[in-house]
Amino acid sequence: MAVPILDLSPGYLALKSELDAAIQRVVAAGNFILGSDVKQFEDSAAAYLGVTHAIGVNSGTDALVIGLRALGIGPGDEVITTPFSFFATAEAIEHVGARPVFVDIDPRTFNIDPSLMEAAITSRTRAILPVHLFGRPAEMSEIARIAQRHGLMVVEDCAQSFGATLQDGRKTGSLGNVNAFSFFPSKTLGAFGDGGLVVTDDEAVAETARALRTHGSLKKYYNDRIGYNSRLDTLQAAVLNVKLPHIDRWNAARRSLAWSYNARLGDEAGLRVPEIVDGHVFHQYTVRIENGHRDDVRAFLAERGIATMVYYPVPIDRLPLYDGKYGACPESTRASEQVLSLPIWPEMEASTQNRVIEELQSALLAVRETAHS
Ligand SMILES: *Cc1c(COP(=O)(O)O)cnc(C)c1O
Repeated sequence: MAVPILDLSPGYLALKSELDAAIQRVVAAGNFILGSDVKQFEDSAAAYLGVTHAIGVNSGTDALVIGLRALGIGPGDEVITTPFSFFATAEAIEHVGARPVFVDIDPRTFNIDPSLMEAAITSRTRAILPVHLFGRPAEMSEIARIAQRHGLMVVEDCAQSFGATLQDGRKTGSLGNVNAFSFFPSKTLGAFGDGGLVVTDDEAVAETARALRTHGSLKKYYNDRIGYNSRLDTLQAAVLNVKLPHIDRWNAARRSLAWSYNARLGDEAGLRVPEIVDGHVFHQYTVRIENGHRDDVRAFLAERGIATMVYYPVPIDRLPLYDGKYGACPESTRASEQVLSLPIWPEMEASTQNRVIEELQSALLAVRETAHS
């Protein structure tokens, strides 16, 4: 039996009757844009995250763009962010006309390294945009201290971290001036299509974000700025309302799978397992293959039907788009050469995980033997 990187079907089947009923209810009512399902989701997500305002939008990318614009970030501004993320993080900064400034990652966490941040601050810097990569919270207390010292805003990219918490129990997405979530189907809280959420404690920022998602108008047909058509679909909100109450259980299952992986793989030569810190929700379980044979290990596993992924094979600052424009971020580049994400989803069976572990051990042995012969 082949093992996919992620299997969405058991999660659907476990809630099938509730999910089908929610979808049917929306279809029968014939109200597909905003309405009470979206309002209910925004209210319950805000309560869950511990924020005052939540605004449902079309995607995580749009949540970042709308959030940045709602803070007034635009042309001439610089935003400090990580090069080791999905492209949308930097793309959103570009979309508002600002310039991303890349600061290298801490190799232990894969997240932006706060100790390198102050050297990147200039008179144009307006905000710091950390990503909680793979579901591991970034170093938010240090980032908040730096932001305060230099009068900067903070925007959290929480696309991979719905439900993740900091040491003090606060949720990711409750710390920045405005923060963005994605409900792309593979995320820890996934819809049945695209979806996103802007969250903030700032009333004025929330009002701007709300106007921006509907063509720049708060009052219909009285558009007072250039906005977007970017609403969270009613159907997606109905799905998310069914799923939200289960998020903590699903994230706990991810953590427990991560513990099992670490227990069995922690002593393998040439492989480094991720740290398991409180609050990490393991949107991805990502190891490093440190012997230079990551691609061979990946090919060996693929031959045996085990899917893996490389998040991300090219750091954003090394993409052709930015060719030669930025200085080196060596840790980010090293990570892109070593990382391998293994199959993980909340309902993954122990026997399936066992197969992944055993095949990975065989793969490591095989590349060691080839290297020595
Ligand atoms: C998925 C993702 C996004 C974009 O979310 P979409 O909903 O796909 O637009 C942004 N940042 C990160 C880190 C992501 O993983």
